[in-house]
Amino acid sequence: MAASAKSPTDQDEKQTNENTNANAQKSEDTKEDFGYYFYPDRDKKKKKSFLERAWLREDVHHFKCETHVRSCMESNPKVKLLAGALESYGCPVDVKRHISCETCIRGVSGGFDPKSMQVVLCQNTIQNRDICCNIIGHELLHAFDFCRAKVDFTNLRHLACTEIRAANMFHCSLGASFASGEASFFNIKERHQLCVKNKALQSIRLVRNVTELEAMTVVDEVFDKCYNDTEPIGRRCFKNTGRAKRALEESRNYYDFD
Ligand SMILES: [Zn+2]
Repeated sequence: MAASAKSPTDQDEKQTNENTNANAQKSEDTKEDFGYYFYPDRDKKKKKSFLERAWLREDVHHFKCETHVRSCMESNPKVKLLAGALESYGCPVDVKRHISCETCIRGVSGGFDPKSMQVVLCQNTIQNRDICCNIIGHELLHAFDFCRAKVDFTNLRHLACTEIRAANMFHCSLGASFASGEASFFNIKERHQLCVKNKALQSIRLVRNVTELEAMTVVDEVFDKCYNDTEPIGRRCFKNTGRAKRALEESRNYYDFD
């Protein structure tokens, strides 16, 4: 399973603490479950009662999440581009079959489950449509790597590579770094690479029982190759809709989809 930490953009420090806590709790419960701990609804044998669902406001969250999904699939350029690229590789996305809104353990906002070939969206933690579209895009990128390159999510190097690619294309926006004053013209590249490394590190440690040093070593080993592989989007993270639309139009030259 590849998991996305909650609040994927600008709350890294707070989030790292949350995830580390969640990870410690998880480690006590199970040994190396590859992140399935965070997605209790994946276990279809465990059915929740009506009262439990009402208590958690599950039906309300579920309806909102599915509304966001429909909107993202219809109109978000990066999500459309990925769905098109997947189709051209022989892995078409059927929304009802491959995208699932579920209640997750706090600390994650989504994931990709290679066993069921499903993108999981955490209906209880995703706050709005834009975040939802970004999570769908991030997880569809994992699906794309699984479809294109048969990524083995239990292999640390493979996991590091696909997480670097997802962070590169869906988080760590260059514009946000400038706006917050973190990056200048002279250090933009270093700041961006550091952000991508940190984000990938966080995602790896969420689903694997490895030390920070082990995860950092693997990220460093595969970084250059995976950071420079921006398929199928062909660009680094951007929030500008105009650039996203151009990426979608250009991709039609390379991938065969409507
Ligand atoms: Zn991921």
